[in-house]
Amino acid sequence: MLPSAQQNRYYMEVMTDSQAKADQPYPTPNQVEINNRYARQMCFGPIGAEGQKRLGAAQVTLIGCGALGTHLADMMTRAGVGRLTIVDRDFIELNNLQRQILFDENDIADNLPKAEAAARKLRRINSDVEINPVVADANHESIEHFIDAADLILDGTDNLQVRFLINDVALKHNIPWIYGACIGAGGMGMVIMPGGRPCLRCLFEDPPDPGRLETCETAGIVAPVVAMVSAFQAAEALKILTGNHEAINHDFVTFELWENRSHQMSLANLKGGCAACRDGKFEFLAGKGSLSTISLCGRNSVQVRPRQAADKINLAELAGRLREAGMVSCNDFMLRFQIAQKEITIFPDARAIVKGTNNIDEARSLYAKYIGH
Ligand SMILES: [Zn+2]
Repeated sequence: MLPSAQQNRYYMEVMTDSQAKADQPYPTPNQVEINNRYARQMCFGPIGAEGQKRLGAAQVTLIGCGALGTHLADMMTRAGVGRLTIVDRDFIELNNLQRQILFDENDIADNLPKAEAAARKLRRINSDVEINPVVADANHESIEHFIDAADLILDGTDNLQVRFLINDVALKHNIPWIYGACIGAGGMGMVIMPGGRPCLRCLFEDPPDPGRLETCETAGIVAPVVAMVSAFQAAEALKILTGNHEAINHDFVTFELWENRSHQMSLANLKGGCAACRDGKFEFLAGKGSLSTISLCGRNSVQVRPRQAADKINLAELAGRLREAGMVSCNDFMLRFQIAQKEITIFPDARAIVKGTNNIDEARSLYAKYIGH
């Protein structure tokens, strides 16, 4: 243990450091009504009464309401944003409850979509916030409808293709957005402010082809990393929405909770911009990399394929990952994967047939989860 004088000094340094950074002096307790729902948040100097007022007028769109999304929706609602639009196409499964904090067993029994189940819970948490659930697939044709008059877009998806779409739509409409991702015990995050700073495409030019990356379904995920990444995203959201722009973290942050590492990578050298943020070419919004789907009538199946020809998928490699999640059989021509009541057949050109559903959104969702898109 540290000697007590050193303990006190360390404690006081942390306290005075954070006070010194506050723009405004802390309001005295009697300046904030003690029973005000936001009293503790308003007592925090950089937010104060003015920041709280700004939050109450703010509109936020959250794309994806799974692990990161439920944490983000919870924190935004408790913080008192004016309006929260939640876009998600999925239903809740038992294996979601380990980390998706807004859902419970009753939601599964009621067979509720995630956006609707989240909205019901959030309205009970804070009835002052207007919650707008949208049960829909966010794709290049639909995403612009969901951002409306958003002041901020939050990334709660588990899908790289959708993140590149969010990047396009946010730049096109000049809206800040906050990227977050996690898998295993690792996670990362980044704030994207349109208007001269690096965007997601400055960092990663394109998402990888389908079938190349691990997904949470094959590599697993532990809940604490979700809390860590979403806490980073929510803190940055509060800074943006309360007008504390000087406090924004412009680095690319990563956490690895099992190997005990965290890192901030400066993006200051990424100057010059990319096709999206410099030239205004919004290729993903125009359909780049999107999935095309057809319901195969009478066969209770949906065919899903990338619109652009992908490089050939390495079926043996994908089979190795999918064995963690379900029954797999594989030869040079196709891979067959069974999970719950569904059977997914994947071909080397990245085309897949999802058997056991006629629902196109469900098929896209399964494709994204297991093949990765
Ligand atoms: Zn860029």
